[in-house]
Amino acid sequence: MTTRTTNPAARTVLVTGAGRGIGLAITQRMSEAGWTVYATARSESALARLNAMTNVIGVPLDITDRDAIATLPQHLPSTLDAVVNNAGIIVSGPVEGLSIDNLSKQLDVNVVSQIAVTQAVLPALRAGHGRVVFISSVSGLITTPGTGAYSASKYAIESLADALRMELRPWKIPVSLIEPGPIKTDMWDGMLDDYDAMTAQLSDEVRELYAAHLTGSRTLLGRMQKFAADPKRVTKAVHHALTSSRPKRRYILDTASRAQKLAVGITPTAFTDRILAAATT
Ligand code: NAP
Repeated sequence: MTTRTTNPAARTVLVTGAGRGIGLAITQRMSEAGWTVYATARSESALARLNAMTNVIGVPLDITDRDAIATLPQHLPSTLDAVVNNAGIIVSGPVEGLSIDNLSKQLDVNVVSQIAVTQAVLPALRAGHGRVVFISSVSGLITTPGTGAYSASKYAIESLADALRMELRPWKIPVSLIEPGPIKTDMWDGMLDDYDAMTAQLSDEVRELYAAHLTGSRTLLGRMQKFAADPKRVTKAVHHALTSSRPKRRYILDTASRAQKLAVGITPTAFTDRILAAATT
């Protein structure tokens, strides 16, 4: 791997959702590499923990707060080497039963607000010949029953990132998508509790109609939880995207995800529909 040779101490990155999970792991990895990390979080306690770390500056930010986005550049240096759009949520459930407010929130946090953050820092990135990274997901390549809202958000960010990468060519600003499979964070640790809460919120009618699917999906989630990988798998890819002279456009991080993408690409939709539907009933 070829790395940029300039002094890492002078390098700066904004990481959103850095208080825990993958965002915290990225913050640790890049600060240990000597970068100055502007690490956003929502709670006072997370910001205090971030500020106590070497080379880390905590920035209070709810990415859905448009006023806060407008003032974000005031908390950052005028030149930036990178932004890592990491903050995200997962809304699950059958499409027929999705609360429209939750669907809107899913798309706001995982798509619209990530673009709002990116727009806000692009002048600083342009000034710093910087890079843009989005933490997408294998769910941005493959849709499974019960995760339509989350997949829609990740497909959307894949598409926006692809457009952005082509549009930013004149300024040589690379845009990378990281596409992890399951990673061991709060997102997976709390998955079954969140799933049960989602099920409880469904109307009686939808819960009855989708009873087999809801039970099957819960069983599958429990199995997948055991395969969740260490966040280091993601941080290694992010480090490459930020430091390599040839950052990849896409980082698929494991063989299972690569195989799933290939299988979905070459298999007739009717066949994959049958397989994926059967896996969740
Ligand atoms: P996590 O442990 O649940 O952490 C989510 C992070 O996002 C938290 O720091 C949270 O902040 C922040 N966040 C949520 N809503 C926000 C908002 N409105 N404004 C600012 N920050 C907000 O999840 P994770 O697993 O680390 O996921 C991070 C990213 O990786 C997400 O984009 C996710 O889709 C993606 N991903 C995860 C996996 C996986 O299996 N874990 C796989 C593929 C992709 P608070 O602490 O304030 O809530």
